[in-house]
Amino acid sequence: MATEYIRLRGIGVSPGIALGLVQLEEQVVFSDRKESITFAQIKEEIQRLQRSFEATKQEIIEIKNQVKDKLGKEHAFIFEAHLMILEDQSLREEIENLIKKEKVRAEWAIATVHNHYMRVFETLEDEYFRQRRFDLSDVLSKVYRHLQPYSPETVDEEGERILVAHELLPSEAARKLNKGNILGVALDMGGQTSHTAILARSLNIPAVVGLRDITTKVQDGDVIIVDGTDGEVIINPPLAIRKEFLSKKRKYDDYLKELRKTSTLVSETLDGFRFTPLANIELPEEISLAFSLGAEGIGLFRSEFIYLRSTTIPSEQDHYHIYSQIAKKAYPSPVYIRTIDIGGEKNIPQLNIEREPNPALGLRAIRFSLKNRKIFKTQLRAILRASVQKNVRLLIPMVTEIEEIEEVKWILREVKDELKREKVDFDPAIPLGIMIEVPAAATLVDEMIKEVDYVSIGTNDLIQYYLAVDRSNELVAYLYKPLHPSLLRLLEEIINHVSEAGKEVTVCGEMAADPLSALLLLGLGLKYFSMNPIFIPKIKKVLRSVEKNYLAELVSEALKLRTAQAIEEFLLEKILVKYPQAFLMREIMDNNRRLT
Ligand code: PEP
Ligand code: MG
Repeated sequence: MATEYIRLRGIGVSPGIALGLVQLEEQVVFSDRKESITFAQIKEEIQRLQRSFEATKQEIIEIKNQVKDKLGKEHAFIFEAHLMILEDQSLREEIENLIKKEKVRAEWAIATVHNHYMRVFETLEDEYFRQRRFDLSDVLSKVYRHLQPYSPETVDEEGERILVAHELLPSEAARKLNKGNILGVALDMGGQTSHTAILARSLNIPAVVGLRDITTKVQDGDVIIVDGTDGEVIINPPLAIRKEFLSKKRKYDDYLKELRKTSTLVSETLDGFRFTPLANIELPEEISLAFSLGAEGIGLFRSEFIYLRSTTIPSEQDHYHIYSQIAKKAYPSPVYIRTIDIGGEKNIPQLNIEREPNPALGLRAIRFSLKNRKIFKTQLRAILRASVQKNVRLLIPMVTEIEEIEEVKWILREVKDELKREKVDFDPAIPLGIMIEVPAAATLVDEMIKEVDYVSIGTNDLIQYYLAVDRSNELVAYLYKPLHPSLLRLLEEIINHVSEAGKEVTVCGEMAADPLSALLLLGLGLKYFSMNPIFIPKIKKVLRSVEKNYLAELVSEALKLRTAQAIEEFLLEKILVKYPQAFLMREIMDNNRRLT
């Protein structure tokens, strides 16, 4: 008799395949029972709340120390963020005020504040920022649990298991994934940039999230397959399917082993051209993984993510703490810190940014920073302070005109003077670079380069603005073509102008992570490739398999072609004939491409 089995599709956030038994996690539930108290009991209730906050603090510090010992300092960082949330006076006051005003038990007050924030976060468009609600949820659920007379911890299974949960709170993720017995993870909720996703990737645990209702479809002890490469989960698979996946797992594990070997090899093409793979990161926690995969520096730190580690506007010290941590970890390799790219759709509640009719063309990135000087100067001070070891670079996003660069330089001078007066150390020659994301900046790059030390091409946005294709709109995704001949002409011009000026040019958009596009960029003369760390081994392997001079010849031919398709076919055919090794395991590479 055929076994009943279920296949579910989700988002593969950590590649690889795992097969094992389910460990189903209970969801944290805040009760909606509104239990009244008398006026006289208010004081006592608030003291009860305070005790619970204090116990939570001790618990977080304890987990933080454990995680630091076992996983390293960078993974313990999240608990610093949790302590900051816990110590946020306004959050505590909100709960206390509800107790006083409504004369209710602390449980109901916490649940109400929690639900309110969950709704606010839910409306945010940016996936990463939406994900941060779990940090708040994590902290409040601990406070809630400490109100109860007994707070039984869930008992973890000891054997090897596949963790299935509605959502994993960050502290739970750190604690559970770190134990070494979790083979894979499958969640109802979650996205690419959740802490669970990042942690699973760095611990090499296959994970699929966004499965919606998997927790209602499995039971403890069911057999399950998690395919993090393809974003699929199979519950109670029959023998034939188990065999199929075990063979896929073997192939993937071999592929990974082979790729990882490249991380220690020199980054050089067959004809001796040295290229530099760099990593794009959003969190300090990603640094170790980036370097273990062969990154030779952090080519892009998207600093706006700091805002979601805090429920208030981050202080200079908050910024400094993170930048210096990254700079020290990466030393002596370079770290390009991009000033905040927020505004428009990346709305952040604590900044009260006005909604704009056309956010992609609105008060974004450097436009926002120049209109919010105080925030900008705070960030510049922190970046400068973190630059003492001279491996930090400053990167300005979304520059449109030279006046913006002049204004940035003026403010930077002011901040440097301030620091000098205060006798605070920094790198006075910190390199200043701009992102080329707006077509107007691309065309004027020969002039702009005279004002700065280097440029970084943000192809994610440059493609969206140059081809007039919204980068997140599925309806026009078919037009989003990195190999569009117009874009290639533009990239050629940028790279040539910057190289002629004797300065450095990096590509930090996802284009650098696509094998064929990376080869094309190499042919255009690009040396610095910055990308999501998990793609570095693959790109390094591809670039090491070819000769730069031959690629340059091919690209000059390709530039005469009229369509993206013609360019792709021409390049693929020529490369496959001359370098059959370059595209080995192409099908797996294509799967990985979905992770972008
Ligand atoms: C880009 O636009 O290519 C880029 C790297 O910046 P972001 O993806 O953060 O907009
Ligand atoms: Mg961009």
